[in-house]
Order: sequence, then structure tokens, then C-alpha cells
Amino acid sequence: MNAEIIAVGSELLLGQIANTNGQYISKQLASVGVDVYSHTVVGDNEDRLFKTISEGFARADLLILTGGLGPTKDDLTKDTVAKFCERKLVYDQEALDHIEAYFKRHNRTMTPNNKKQAYVIEGAHVLANRHGMAPGMVVQLANEKRIVLLPGPPSEMKPMFEKELLPFLLGANDQASITSRVLHFFGIGESQLETDLEDIIENQQNPTIAPLASDGEVKLRLTVKHTDENEIKRLLDETESVIMDRVGDYLYGYDETTLVKEVSRYLDEQGLTVACAESFTGGLFASELVSLPGASSILTGSITAYTEEAKTALLGVSQKTLQDHGVVSEACAAEMAQGIQERLQTDVAISFTGVAGPEKQGDLEPGTVVIGIVFPQQPVRTIPLSLSGGRNAVRMRAVKYGFFYLLD
Ligand code: ATP
Ligand code: MG
Repeated sequence: MNAEIIAVGSELLLGQIANTNGQYISKQLASVGVDVYSHTVVGDNEDRLFKTISEGFARADLLILTGGLGPTKDDLTKDTVAKFCERKLVYDQEALDHIEAYFKRHNRTMTPNNKKQAYVIEGAHVLANRHGMAPGMVVQLANEKRIVLLPGPPSEMKPMFEKELLPFLLGANDQASITSRVLHFFGIGESQLETDLEDIIENQQNPTIAPLASDGEVKLRLTVKHTDENEIKRLLDETESVIMDRVGDYLYGYDETTLVKEVSRYLDEQGLTVACAESFTGGLFASELVSLPGASSILTGSITAYTEEAKTALLGVSQKTLQDHGVVSEACAAEMAQGIQERLQTDVAISFTGVAGPEKQGDLEPGTVVIGIVFPQQPVRTIPLSLSGGRNAVRMRAVKYGFFYLLD
């Protein structure tokens, strides 16, 4: 099966927004073994859209359109696809009920043009929109070809793609169900992970393995298709264990998790409190922890001590350490961590000192970072790192490494 993606919207052509839907859908299709041969972007113009659909349809087995499903005049996708397929638009009570409920839930009054969204192409399989109003559709045509319509807003399109469309496409012809497990890794780059797992990824079939990278982290999504629940679990466990043998050191969690969530849960389970001494991270570590509910039971406090004087005055870092080793040093990170642990009487303490950039600091390159960590009754551990990226990427990465080593 080969696919083509058509992104509809004049704002894409004007360069006002980037076609992130195209990228997302391509990646998703690649992960389930569907080849994407072309991407097209077309404006909100009926004639040009019609022409684009005809051309795409001649080439591809599966044509996926995003955008233009809304209620306004410039939303032409549904009408144009209906015209292309020579099918009528029919009223769908379920879609209307959904739209009415959506308005009620958001305390808004429904305008007449919203009813337009309750019309679907005759004979189409309707894809529910859990995060908006316009339903998606799969139109099955005589020659085994299919046209899929998805809404433009990524917040609606992505869940519809994963929860409605993928299961439909993959399971359309049998009773098999599709289950995914996401493995989260940190401290290993995407290319390294793919190299380490090259043969496994290449020979993947069931489950399929899709690497996904973002914000300095890598995830692997294992997707299994089977009729039997036990077999699904066995296949996922088996593949996971092969992966763990090679890159298990970098795994930190499963499915909907994040590093900060894992750390919060771990500290909470262990009944440990934490405090942090921050320099170039400027309070980011504390801010990330506080973003989760229940932070008060684990986070005691944080001190941002930016200058050398502040590090001495607020954390007790010695003049000698600053003179002999410099402020970005293992010795300084250790004293910062011990200083905050003592002052705030916490179980665990963590410190961050480093060069965020973009300029060098003396001889030190941007991205030179040292993290200090103290656990109860243990010697302080210091971790020097050399991180890449711009100023704020370095700050965020350092904080993520901090979380990762707290879990170590
Ligand atoms: P709505 O009901 O919001 O009108 P729609 O399905 O009609 O949704 P569009 O009107 O085409 O979709 O686009 C709505 C918004 O969705 C755009 O303003 C843009 O923010 C986002 N969007 C649309 N297409 C894309 C795309 N290809 N990539 C990323 N974002 C997109
Ligand atoms: Mg619209």
C-alpha cells in the first residue's frame, strides 16, 4: 500500500503555518509500513483542490487529506471530495448529537453553519472527533482505493489518527485488535538507538517498531496486531526484552510518562524530599517539579544562586573551591548540593552549574555542565556533561539529565 498526503489550507501556502500535519502523518504511516510517495499542499480553492485530488488519486492507494473540514466558507474539503467521488453528502445524526454536546460542554451557542459539520460523505466510515467537532471520514472506493479526510488542527487530527484511523486501516479486514506500548529512553540519541537496534527494527513485523524523537528524548512505539490478548502481551514482552538487552540502561518509563513524572513518583514512593541549588538553570528544575500536582509533598525548595557571590552567601560554596576549581566544576556542584541539603534539611539534593551559552565562559564551551546529587547517607555524586543545543535547549537538557540521574 502506498499513500499520498494532501494538506489543504491557504495559510500553509502563504507560509503562515508549517505543514506539521504532513510530517506527523508521514512518520505515523512509516511506522506501520505504509510507503508515502508524495506530499502536496494546496490552498482553499475548489478547482485546484479537485485537480490535486484527481492527480493524487491516480498515483496512490491511500489519499489522506487534512484541513478544511470546519464550518466556514473556506472549508471546502468535504464538498470537493464528495464531488470527486460522485457521492452525496448525507446528514449524520450521531455527528450532530456530538456537535450539540460539544457546544453544551463548552457553554457556547451553536450557529447554523455548524450543522454543516454533521454532513458526511455517503457511505463513508466516520471517524469520531474527541477533541473538536468536525468528524473525519474514510471513503472506500471501488478499486480498493481509499480517501481519508482529517481535520486541520493538530490537537484534533493526531488523536483521531492514532485512536480512530490507524485501528480502522490496520484492522479493517479482520477481528484483530491493535495495541501499542511506548518505551521512553533518555541519554541516548535517536541515531545511536537506531544503530544499536538496526537489525531488530529492520526485521520488525509484529510488533512494528517506530522510533520517535523529540526534545532530546527518544521513544520507541511497539505496535502489535493480534486477535488474542495474551498473545499481544507475549509479543510485546518478547520484543521489549530483546530491546532491553541492548539499550535497557537508557529506559526510564512506559506509555504516557515523562521524566519529571517518573521522578515525582519515585520520590513520593520512597518518601523522600528534594531540594535544588540552581545556577544557569535559573529555577527550571523546581519549575518542572511544581508543574505537577502534589509537588509540595516532595519539593522542599530551591535556591537560584547565579553569581559566585550568591553561591557563597546562599549555599556556602567556599572561596577556595571557586578559586581553585572555578564555578563550573565538580567541586562547586558538590558544595552547592551539600549546601542546599544542609540548609533546607532535605533527604535528596541536586545542583546545577554550567555554561548555557551562547558565549564561552573562560575556556569552557557552551553546554559544559556539572550536576551534583546527594542521597541520604551517601557521598555526593557529581556528573560532568557536555550538552549540545542553544541556550535554552542546554538548560532544559541539563534539567532532564538531573531527573534521569535521580532515577539512576
Ligand atoms: P476548523 O474546524 O478549525 O476550521 P479545519 O479542519 O477546517 O478546522 P483548517 O481550517 O484548514 O482546518 O485549519 C485550522 C487550523 O488547523 C489552522 O489554522 C492551523 O492552525 C491548523 N492546521 C491546518 N492544517 C495544518 C497542517 N497541515 N499542519 C499544521 N497545522 C495545520
Ligand atoms: Mg477551517
